Parts: sequence; C-alpha cells; structure tokens
Amino acid sequence: LIYITRRFNFSASHRVYNPNLSDEENLKIYGKCSNPNGHGHNYIMDVTVAGEIDTETGFVMDLTELKDIVNKDIIYKVDHRNLNTDVDFMKGILASTENLAIKFWEQIENKVKTNKRRLHSIKIQETINNSVEYYGKSKQGK
Ligand SMILES: [Zn+2]
Repeated sequence: LIYITRRFNFSASHRVYNPNLSDEENLKIYGKCSNPNGHGHNYIMDVTVAGEIDTETGFVMDLTELKDIVNKDIIYKVDHRNLNTDVDFMKGILASTENLAIKFWEQIENKVKTNKRRLHSIKIQETINNSVEYYGKSKQGK
C-alpha cells in the first residue's frame, strides 16, 4: 500500500464544555477551552488515503479529487464558523478535536473509498502542541 496525504487549513471557533456541568466544573476539565463566549483556533488537518497505484494514472488518488471532496464536505462547512452552532454534523456533539476527527471521517469515508483505496487517517492539529489522529473504527488491514 501507498499512503498519500493532503493538508488543509481552517479557522473556527468553539466552546468545549459539557452542558450538564457547571461553569466551574467545565473550567476544571477543559480550562481555557471552556470560556463561555468561545475562542478560535487555526486548525491544520492532514487527510491520508491508502491504496494501490492505478496503473493508468500512476496515482493512488488524484489529490485534486481528494481536495474537492474534503473542501465540499468539511472545509466549507467549518471554516470561519462556530463549531458548536453552525455545523450540521456537530450538532449536540462536544466540539473537542477528538470528536471533530471522528465526525470529519464520517463525512468523507464513503466518498474516498473504492475497491483500490480507502481513507487511512485524519490528523487534526489544534495548536502547535496538541493534535489528534483518527484511523477509523477498526483496523481494516489487508
Ligand atoms: Zn479550543
């Protein structure tokens, strides 16, 4: 298998909090990220596809096609938005980077998949020091 990766950038705001807890308890768990009026991040996301090389094109996947899928189904929906209130697939879900990675995966998994390739990972960097990687529900190795 060969792995290909495309990087994306988006800026979004959120408040990470559990609505069942008090502001004090939320502050204890989520720190600055629980600020009641929210705050923003410049996220960096790496989307990796694993597959076999197509003998006609020499590609695992045309990166422009990957770019178009991710832009349409993820980036245009989250860039310069509030992740708590503006994004249909994040409604009712705690806007942590972990949950973002899982929900992003769900948006594009089936569109990337063919009999020769599949989504391998989504890595989201929230700050210079913090990042999350998601590899799907189960290892679907060959
Ligand atoms: Zn945050």
